[in-house]
Amino acid sequence: MKETFTLVATAAAGLEAVVGRELRELGYDTQVENGKVRFQGDVRAIAETNIWLRAADRIKIVVGEFPARTFEELFQGVFALDWENYLPLGAKFPISKAKCVKSKLHNEPSVQAISKKAVVKKLQKYFHRPEGVPLQETGAEFKIEVSILKDKATVLIDTTGASLFKRGYRTDKGGAPIKENMAAAILELSNWYPDKPLIDPTCGSGTFCIEAAMIGMNIAPGFNRDFAFEAWNWVDKDLVQSVRDEADSKANYDIELDIMGCDIDGRMVEIAKANAREAGLEDVIKLKQMRLQDLKTDKINGVIISNPPYGERLLDDKAVDILYNEMGQTFAPLKTWSKFILTSDEQ
Ligand code: SAH
Repeated sequence: MKETFTLVATAAAGLEAVVGRELRELGYDTQVENGKVRFQGDVRAIAETNIWLRAADRIKIVVGEFPARTFEELFQGVFALDWENYLPLGAKFPISKAKCVKSKLHNEPSVQAISKKAVVKKLQKYFHRPEGVPLQETGAEFKIEVSILKDKATVLIDTTGASLFKRGYRTDKGGAPIKENMAAAILELSNWYPDKPLIDPTCGSGTFCIEAAMIGMNIAPGFNRDFAFEAWNWVDKDLVQSVRDEADSKANYDIELDIMGCDIDGRMVEIAKANAREAGLEDVIKLKQMRLQDLKTDKINGVIISNPPYGERLLDDKAVDILYNEMGQTFAPLKTWSKFILTSDEQ
């Protein structure tokens, strides 16, 4: 087993800097790259980042990187990696993903098959198993990914399992939910702080409100779910539990928050309430059925974050035009408020 790992937190395009900031707040040195942020850490770091990062998609271990211009180079490169430090005998290790970009090797299924062969051969050698007899793969799963960019292969193991946007509180969703990690990232990019009022006037399933409450109370986004790495034999269960316990002790359930979500659709409000309840935040977030056109408030310096319907998904173009016009009129009197509207409508 290894002491320290090179890790990457993957992120949606454009959110790398947000993930980088979160990692630095957790105390890691970071290197921001395209679609990912690289850092170093031990098993505890794997647990901590999975449990705490709000804007990332997944945490992956970088097993190695090497030039791979031919299948032979790929095979030798994968074979040379220290698989014995990760995969116990019996491990399930699918090459779950192969991606080739701007490289001589471009047949992804072949990259997958050759990488698999190389790992199998290495383990057979290390564990003194006869070649030709397939390895039993009945144990915990280690999903391996091979990505070749400009003839350089990066070989990764996913530690996360289901993507980090799945927090575990979503009981149901509407027609166009925003991903939880995207909502958290937008909140982090906004000028909202927990001492300001927040309103999502088109709250749908309540994602912005719930993510905001979790940020405000310093609740770890991953406290309510489990991760692929927890099934691995070299991961100490007590260590992971201690990271969870620590996360629990860092939450501040007493902080006063002023977070409200509204939606014209009563069924969505019920879904938002169910999700808030699942997250343990039903008493924290005010949720009600209301048209955004009826929004009025005397409060000052608040923040509106809204992801209104737009053409292709929920309303036709004409109705969207009218709605956006009415949003303008409704929000205009709220002079001290910031307004963040997420839409694909360039007009
Ligand atoms: N961010 C939400 C999805 C928003 S989809 C989530 O994560 O679930 C847009 C929402 O706007 C829909 O739920 C729709 O019911 C609501 N909506 C449409 N017209 C509205 C109006 N006039 N006033 C308030 N809400 C409206």
